[in-house]
Amino acid sequence: MIPAPFDYLTADSPRHAIELLARCGEDAKLLAGGHSLLPMMKLRLAAPSVLIDIGQLAELAGVRADGDELVIGAATCHADLAAAELVRTDAPLLAHAAAQVGDPQIRHRGTIGGSLAHADPAADLPMAVVALGGSVEILGPAGRRRLAAGDFFTGFFETSLGPGDLLTAVRVPRTPGAGWGYQKFTRRANDWAIVGAAAAGGRIALANMGPVPLRARAAERALAAGASPAQAAELAAEGTSPGEDMHADREYRQHLARVLTRRALEQQG
Ligand SMILES: Cc1cc2nc3c(=O)[nH]c(=O)nc-3n(C[C@H](O)[C@H](O)[C@H](O)COP(=O)(O)OP(=O)(O)OC[C@H]3O[C@@H](n4cnc5c(N)ncnc54)[C@H](O)[C@@H]3O)c2cc1C
Repeated sequence: MIPAPFDYLTADSPRHAIELLARCGEDAKLLAGGHSLLPMMKLRLAAPSVLIDIGQLAELAGVRADGDELVIGAATCHADLAAAELVRTDAPLLAHAAAQVGDPQIRHRGTIGGSLAHADPAADLPMAVVALGGSVEILGPAGRRRLAAGDFFTGFFETSLGPGDLLTAVRVPRTPGAGWGYQKFTRRANDWAIVGAAAAGGRIALANMGPVPLRARAAERALAAGASPAQAAELAAEGTSPGEDMHADREYRQHLARVLTRRALEQQG
């Protein structure tokens, strides 16, 4: 459990992080909370030659309102996201999801940007941001760009981020008072979802039902056409391709997707 040797640099600003990434080449990795990257390095599943620490950058932390959207700095930790009054009132699903991540230690170190960039399909915040119809802001060598969350996740632990890119912020719509539902099935309290389902604004997102956080499109269409939550939820596993592991086989995950989607839709009201 000892990582391969690496150099450690700290970035003074988002631009500086981009410059360091360009200078250090493809073997460099950004370090935010370190709660996904460091375990991978200890298991030697990742062996970056340089870590560029962005965890202390004030420009990347905090939540602010921008018109009808919330803008969440990529280095905002899960605990701050869960506690932020603006998030609790204007995007309560996101605050709730952040509070479901791991345990207090993980929530005080792990960041929303790190969670999205890591792109674990079983993770809480990618599913939440997809359910909310959010988007991400990226700063790269060619400048800034913005991507819908649904286009950001491209495969199993893969995103649209290039090796020289920094995820700077996550945007979600402000919907104070709107209903939402969030269901996470775990074996132990601080685990990743065996399956998760989140519902908001006519969207239903699923965790751990495929290589990326998926939309349950057939269930969404049924709901829009007037089906009850129970009827729509029966379609939640359509088009999904969940993996199998010691916790659940494919059929059980698809069963969970239907049950959790029904509960999320009923919770949404
Ligand atoms: C025991 C344990 C339990 C956990 N339980 C859960 C859980 O229940 N649910 C859940 O969702 N997660 C869980 N996690 C994961 C946790 O949420 C991590 O904190 C998160 O996935 C990664 O965030 P980080 O800031 O620690 O990223 P890091 O580990 O620092 O980085 C992860 C990856 O993202 C890249 N990266 C980081 N920030 C950026 C950025 N701004 N721009 C571009 N790339 C970036 C890094 O280079 C690296 O490749 C758990 C982790 C542990 C160790």
